[in-house]
Amino acid sequence: MDIKKGKLFVISGSSGVGKGTLLKQLVQRNPELEVSISATTRNPRPGEVDGVNYFFTSKEDFLKEVENGDFLEWAEFNGNYYGTKQAWVERNLNKGRNLILEIETKGALQIKQKMPDAVLIFILPPSLEELEHRLRGRNTEDEATIQGRLHEVKREIECSKNYDYRIINDDLEKALSELEKLVKSVIR
Ligand code: ADP
Ligand code: 5GP
Repeated sequence: MDIKKGKLFVISGSSGVGKGTLLKQLVQRNPELEVSISATTRNPRPGEVDGVNYFFTSKEDFLKEVENGDFLEWAEFNGNYYGTKQAWVERNLNKGRNLILEIETKGALQIKQKMPDAVLIFILPPSLEELEHRLRGRNTEDEATIQGRLHEVKREIECSKNYDYRIINDDLEKALSELEKLVKSVIR
């Protein structure tokens, strides 16, 4: 019997907009969805666990994997590398799993080129002030890192015009229900 291939969703949005918060709740409510674990060269934040939040790796090892062609997409963001393993995505889509990649915009556009059926969703903040407030309120980055991340915001929002859908994360419950409705309409 042929297994129906899974759907691939790509979720992007500026640092602090609430992607992690939304995805955690989306997956809790919909266990048929699976979020990819990326490789990164950035240092773990307090509480982050290797193999759970990310596969934390050195720049040297990351670049070796790039050379081996192990990544479906990868990009540099604010001084660190981030990438999605091709083998994991292919294996799970072929098993019929519905996958979510939570990745930045350059990687998302690489996915759209390679896999035009992927559904790209961009999460917008209600305002730039609120975005900065959330990013600072999370209390996980030093000032230089916060500035670096805020520096990317206008470019990212401009890039979101290439996405299939945009959702504003103002009221969390409302944004979650919009995201859930959209995802369910695609996988049904
Ligand atoms: P991201 O994964 O996009 O970097 P997070 O999910 O870590 O962002 O959210 C950043 C901060 O904003 C967290 O402290 C989170 O609790 C808060 N947050 C997320 N969504 C909302 C919302 N709709 N309203 C207010 N605060 C929010
Ligand atoms: P953070 O350091 O806050 O966890 O992530 C920084 C940025 O990197 C976020 O925009 C996040 O979506 C993105 N990111 C996480 N994993 C990947 C990945 O595998 N590939 C790409 N291109 N971006 C990623």
